[in-house]
Formats: sequence, C-alpha cells, structure tokens
Amino acid sequence: MARRVLVTGGAGYIGSHTVLQLLREGFYVVVVDNLDNSSEVAVQRVAELAGGFGKNLAFHRIDIQDKEALEKVFHTTKFDAVIHFAGLKAVGESVQKPLLYYKNNIIGTITLLEVMAAHGCKKLVFSSSATVYGWPKHLPCTEESPLHAMNPYGRTKLMIEEICRDVHHADNDWKIMLLRYFNPVGAHPSGHIGEDPRGIPNNLMPFIQQVAVGRRPSLTIFGTDYSTKDGTGVRDYIHVVDLADGHIAALKKFFDDPTTGCEAYNLGTGKGTSVFEMVTAFEKASGKKIPLILTARRPGDAETLYAGTAKAEKELKWKAKYGIEEMCRDQWNWAIKNPWGYGLPEPPN
Ligand code: NAD
Ligand code: UDP
Repeated sequence: MARRVLVTGGAGYIGSHTVLQLLREGFYVVVVDNLDNSSEVAVQRVAELAGGFGKNLAFHRIDIQDKEALEKVFHTTKFDAVIHFAGLKAVGESVQKPLLYYKNNIIGTITLLEVMAAHGCKKLVFSSSATVYGWPKHLPCTEESPLHAMNPYGRTKLMIEEICRDVHHADNDWKIMLLRYFNPVGAHPSGHIGEDPRGIPNNLMPFIQQVAVGRRPSLTIFGTDYSTKDGTGVRDYIHVVDLADGHIAALKKFFDDPTTGCEAYNLGTGKGTSVFEMVTAFEKASGKKIPLILTARRPGDAETLYAGTAKAEKELKWKAKYGIEEMCRDQWNWAIKNPWGYGLPEPPN
C-alpha cells in the first residue's frame, strides 16, 4: 500500500513542488494549508501535473493552530510521516509583527506535534533555514557551525529546531529531520507551478522576475561594499525541484534506516553566487535588461552564505543536480507563462 504523508503548507512554493515529487514517487498525500500565502490553484495544477497519480492527493483548507481540525484529518488517515512547511517567512514582517510569527510558527508546530503524538505518527521533516547560521565566521556552513538567529523569523526556526531536539530526547521513537534550506529559486520545468509571493517580494529572484515581466521598474541592490568578489551579497541558490527531491531522500531515510534520530541537514549546492552574477544569469535566460538601483546594505543581511553539502550527500544520498542556468531558465519559463502568478493582473494605480 502507498505510504501516506501529511504535508502542511503544501499549497506554497516549496510545498507544491515537493507534493508533485511525492505523488510521482507513489506516495498518497494530504495537504493542509490555510492559503494565507498561497492559492488552491497551485494544488489543482500539481494534481494535473501528476497525471494518473493526481488521484492520490487530498486538500484541506486548515490552519495548523486549529487542533480540532487537525485531529479530524488524523482521524481519517493514518499517516506514515509529516512534512511540515507551514509557516510565515517574511523576515521584515517578522521584525514588525514578532508575536504573529511566534504564534503562527511556534504554536502551529507545537499543535502539530501534539496531534502527531496523539495519533502515533512520530516521523517529521521540518523546513528549517540557513538563516539559523546568522552571519557565519567560517564557510561553508556545516551542520556543526554555530547557530545564531538575527531576527524573529530566524528565531522561530531555531526555537522549533530546539523543540524538536527536546521532543526526540524525551521519546526516542520520534524521528525528525531538520532540513536547512539555503536559497530556493526556480520553478518546475513545466512552467505550471512556481513562486507567487503576495505583495512586494522580499527575496531576490521573485523581485528580478517581476522586473523582467514589467510589473516593477527596477531592482534595488542592497549593498555593493561587501568583501565579496564584486561587492554584492553571496548566497547558495538551489533549484526548487532539487530541494523537493531532498525531501523524498529524507523520507526514504526514515523508512530505510531504523537508527534515524533527530538530525539537521543542509540542503544547498555548496556554491556561492553574488547578486550581480544572479542578475546577469537572469538577463541571459530572459533576454531582458534588469534596470538596477544600487543602495545601502539591508539591515540584518549576512555577507556570504553557502552550504557544506557532505552530510546530506553521505547520509541522505542526495545531491543538487541543477545550476544557476537551469534555475533562471525555469524561473523565466514560469514567469512568461504566469506573469501574474496564480492570480489576475493587479489593477493600475
Ligand atoms: P510559502 O509561503 O510559499 O509556503 C508556506 C505555506 O504555509 C503557505 O502556503 C501558507 O499559506 C501556509 N501556512 C502558513 N501558516 C500556516 C498555518 N498556520 N496553517 C496552515 N498553513 C499555513 O513559503 P515557502 O517558500 O514554500 O516556504 C516553506 C517553508 O520553508 C517555510 O516554513 C519557510 O519558512 C521555509 N523556508 C523557506 C525558504 C525560502 O526562501 N523560500 C528558505 C528557508 C526556509
Ligand atoms: N537582495 C537585493 N535586492 C532585493 C532582494 C535581495 O539586493 O530586492 C540581495 C540580498 O541583500 C542578499 C541576496 O540578494 O544579498 C539574497 O536575498 P534574499 O532575500 O533572496 O535571501 P536571504 O538574504 O534571505 O538569504
């Protein structure tokens, strides 16, 4: 019988790509999402892209803080594992509204863990982030690097990691993977699913994309005076399909390796790319010129972040396959097919 996986936040950017890979691998998937930062259209498109496997997908519009609603889902289906993407993720907003972030991300996770425990489902894959490394002194960041959150969003990730370690410590039946994503970009090569942020994008790639399709006049570059190859910030960009496959690898380890405990894994490529390099790669992929405004550093930004990938390669037997060229190609393909994401054009000002 197919293994059953609950995916919280499965209508979102990384969630939707992961759900598609799960379906293609033969899993039965139940998505719960409150659609706070996503659209049900993404779930419909995933079902279409999965072809015959699309029938193995169910969706419930639920807030994971709603324990009663979650209970009902667990009553109906006995899950083998949970992949937990649901959370708020805008760094700036988390500084403005810390309580919203602590409540949604931490209370949401605790509620989920309580319901899982009550139903004897003790395998969890959690979406952590490279942000837990803060501004690292030594590179690449390995899973043993010191942890330091720089804002409330980062602190929610760090706190949830600690909660998971404590939960595993108290009860070794829990198997937990803390996946620390570096910078997910790109879209499914079909161009039918991709990232569709609400409002003004916080992240580099969706911003570049919106400039390229004419939704915004220019890209503002935050800082050109870093000690990097060209003065701009360096990050480890990873294709979202590679990232999605990292989750399949994590699940396989749960099912194949009884010694799994509570472990953190970096999901990145191990390569650093500057903002200028990313802009140039996107211009090449799209044939569009991206007008730039050079400005001061964004408060709280690290200079350089890239992953040490050895642990994930060895223990998850997973390695990113795609490079910047494919990331930009697929991001552009999604953009031209869906210039307004899953929604309708914004009315003119
Ligand atoms: P996303 O906003 O596209 O997806 C998150 C989904 O969770 C959304 O569909 C949203 O509606 C849902 N959600 C939020 N709170 C919820 C709640 N209380 N109940 C039910 N659903 C809820 O974001 P994403 O980029 O796909 O990120 C997924 C996860 O990965 C998040 O936890 C995020 O913090 C983490 N992450 C993302 C990045 C990134 O750059 N995209 C990097 C590192 C970690
Ligand atoms: N960045 C930028 N302009 C933007 C958004 C981001 O110059 O509009 C820079 C940012 O300073 C960082 C890099 O792009 O050096 C990646 O930023 P993003 O927010 O995408 O990821 P994070 O900083 O969270 O790793």
